[in-house]
Amino acid sequence: MKPANSILASSGTSVFEVMSRLAIEHRSINLGQGFPDGNGPEDVRAKAAHFLEDKPNQYPPMLGVPELRQAVAAHAKRFYGLEIDWEREVMVASGATEVLASCLFGLIEPGDEVVLLEPLYDSYLPIVRRAGAVPRLVRLAPPGWELPRDDLAAAFSAKTKLILLNSPMNPAAKLFTREELAFIAELVLRHDAYAVCDEVYEHLAFDGRTHIPLMTFPGMRRRCLKIGSAGKTFALTGWKVGYVTAAPELLQPIAKAHQFITFTTPPNLQRAVAYGLGKDDAYFRSLARELETKRDVFAKGLAEVGFDVLACHGTYFISADFRPLGFNGDDVEFCRHITTEAGVTAIPVSAFYEGAGPDHFVRFAFCKEDEVLRGALERLRRHFRRG
Ligand code: PMP
Ligand code: GLN
Repeated sequence: MKPANSILASSGTSVFEVMSRLAIEHRSINLGQGFPDGNGPEDVRAKAAHFLEDKPNQYPPMLGVPELRQAVAAHAKRFYGLEIDWEREVMVASGATEVLASCLFGLIEPGDEVVLLEPLYDSYLPIVRRAGAVPRLVRLAPPGWELPRDDLAAAFSAKTKLILLNSPMNPAAKLFTREELAFIAELVLRHDAYAVCDEVYEHLAFDGRTHIPLMTFPGMRRRCLKIGSAGKTFALTGWKVGYVTAAPELLQPIAKAHQFITFTTPPNLQRAVAYGLGKDDAYFRSLARELETKRDVFAKGLAEVGFDVLACHGTYFISADFRPLGFNGDDVEFCRHITTEAGVTAIPVSAFYEGAGPDHFVRFAFCKEDEVLRGALERLRRHFRRG
């Protein structure tokens, strides 16, 4: 038989799926895959249920229902002062994952170069390659995750079509600073490139920090594609409602990709997300505040177990160095070990790098109920016999 596509055939099953299956098999507390264990805001779910009974339940407009596109534009104005034309500059798709794929398929020509920062979310590289681009990888490394400016500048060339930027960044829990973003914006301008900005964790920034979209920098308004996700903003990861904001000439080719991938996204969920994006500022503040408290409790507990815990400025994730625990093996082995022996599951940080990456850090998702976090810490404490 003829072989399947080699790029996709050579990708393994996603590390998130692998670790979640292992967690189920071993009845382990799953702090691997990044999903909250709550059920999302009740009022937003009630709206979705209502709109399911309400007409229409047929194909909505390809770009998304007007209410949600208007709400995305209003949200960009309210939080970032961006003036967005909802009719020509907003598109809804089935999760940020699909938005990312549509952006990459819509913009890349075979042979283009794409600059990516490691550690990176697992869908980026296969889709960049499947779209025919050559990836130029630049590494950020723990514990500080500083942006290596010289390496980044060297990765750009006349062939660079775009940079893919994730801030707040999974799994580094890093928010790119104003200075770092200005540096990136300058490179994008100098090389006449675009920036695909994965901002799914935009509201999950801690300790008074605020997320700054690259799109707000001089010269970036027409070069950035700004991506958000209801999964993260409403703690409803299973809904898969994502949205992108971009200048009309960029949105058009992206919409072409979307129309041939999924075409539309369930209309009741879109309308409920439109309602959600209109919630008052207190809702958005509480998202970060609740997670910040969980982070503090969990980070303290991990340190008491004996981990060297890294700083966490945003997202659902915190990473830690397990070497002080005396474990003899790499991060993949450590994650298997704590799943099967301690009953707690995490994700190896090396999974976010291509080829050999840092191999002694693991990522925990702390977007969980307090008693789940306490239970996980108790299991780790017992296993490593400390505290
Ligand atoms: N980008 C990043 C950085 C993520 O961590 C995730 C995972 N939630 C996504 C995109 C995908 O978001 P969605 O579930 O909306 O497809
Ligand atoms: N974004 C989630 C994480 O990083 C996982 C999403 C997925 O399972 N594809 O854990």
